[in-house]
Amino acid sequence: MTFQQLGVIDPILRALTAEGYTNPTPIQEQSIPILLHGKDLLGCAQTGTGKTAAFAIPILQHLYLKRQSNKTHRGKRKIKALIVTPTRELAIQIGESFSIYGEHTGIKNTVIFGGVKQGAQTKILDQGVDVLVATPGRLLDLIGQGFISLKGVEYSVLDEADRMLDMGFIHDIRKLIALLPVKRQSLFFSATMPPDIIALSRKILGNPEKVSVTPDQTTAEKVEQAVYFVSKPGKTKLLIHLLKTISMDSVLVFSRTKHGANKIVKLLDRAGISAEAIHSNKSQTARQRALGNFKSGETKVLVATDIAARGIDVDELSHVVNYDLPNISETYVHRIGRTGRAGASGTALSFCNEEEKAYLRDIEKLIKQKINVISEHPFLNYKPDETAKNAAVPYGLRKKSRPAKTSGGNRPRRRRPYKRRDT
Ligand code: AMP
Repeated sequence: MTFQQLGVIDPILRALTAEGYTNPTPIQEQSIPILLHGKDLLGCAQTGTGKTAAFAIPILQHLYLKRQSNKTHRGKRKIKALIVTPTRELAIQIGESFSIYGEHTGIKNTVIFGGVKQGAQTKILDQGVDVLVATPGRLLDLIGQGFISLKGVEYSVLDEADRMLDMGFIHDIRKLIALLPVKRQSLFFSATMPPDIIALSRKILGNPEKVSVTPDQTTAEKVEQAVYFVSKPGKTKLLIHLLKTISMDSVLVFSRTKHGANKIVKLLDRAGISAEAIHSNKSQTARQRALGNFKSGETKVLVATDIAARGIDVDELSHVVNYDLPNISETYVHRIGRTGRAGASGTALSFCNEEEKAYLRDIEKLIKQKINVISEHPFLNYKPDETAKNAAVPYGLRKKSRPAKTSGGNRPRRRRPYKRRDT
């Protein structure tokens, strides 16, 4: 089955081909025709199954075709598709997916979430967007302030509904449903379908078609895995150490942030290891070049963010290194699935600092296995050597050590204002 056979139109097909998607995943194969027919959908699927494209492609296609047939009527764009998702990470990922798949459609999207100032978000909203990806708290907040109207919404997606309820968003969701126009196409995704989720889905969906897929978790059994407990500043040292001591032919290193990816490359470079970074701040040409160099073996290490790593299709990848552990467990399965393809043996090494131990526990729960811990390595409790750093600074410029604070004479420290956690 191809995307073309599913009825996907050319501007989107071109973007999918550029992204390296040759065939639809099972959830896409099942959902895209239903959604292109305008029906409601109840999807039982986890992140990692390709569900974002399963809903983003039909929404983009509907919006594109409507825009094409309505060329004369072009005022400020109104929000026509709303995607509500529990975390900012997912919201960002979904927004990026809409941008990628919709590159040739002219459909505009934006992402809003809490925990950051709203100014930049309201500025984009003010310019007009077709697709809004949002976390519930910030969405209701901006609706309350009059920045957002949901009156024009024709497509609504509730993503990761079970996680949404786990995170206590049920009241927010109820409020949001009440604000949506009755006439719309509704999509509802959840990894699990306990009774409370089914009850919620009934409130949202008309007479939905149902699709269900389970992710391929056997990857976790195929790939040899190990975890290194290491302090945050010790991670680059450990990476350089491993690259110099273990035989690794081609290594894909995952970094949580673009900035982090650049920094890793710089430090590897200094250590004489050929590496390049790919992430969404790099131009398409730069990404293509980096990928080409990696495939040809010219660079041994490619450092990527999760988003940029989509579409990387390198068959002979010997190692995946999780420089940062992902906070979404399915992402781990997806990352390590990059190695050990087509029956080849692959190795996935993960670096885990104190704060990431909770992520590790979640991952082990998902893959239903304990990951082997390598406790013998030189950077277990590594701390940067402050005296060495200071010695490199000319004497007059060295930081003076502060006298210890006493409680009596010091001004009380201002407490930081309480910051609401991201919704
Ligand atoms: P999702 O479940 O939407 O988070 O997608 C999981 C991963 O699969 C993402 O990295 C997508 O880029 C990738 N993906 C989605 N659909 C396809 C496809 N048809 N072919 C190859 N990769 C895909």
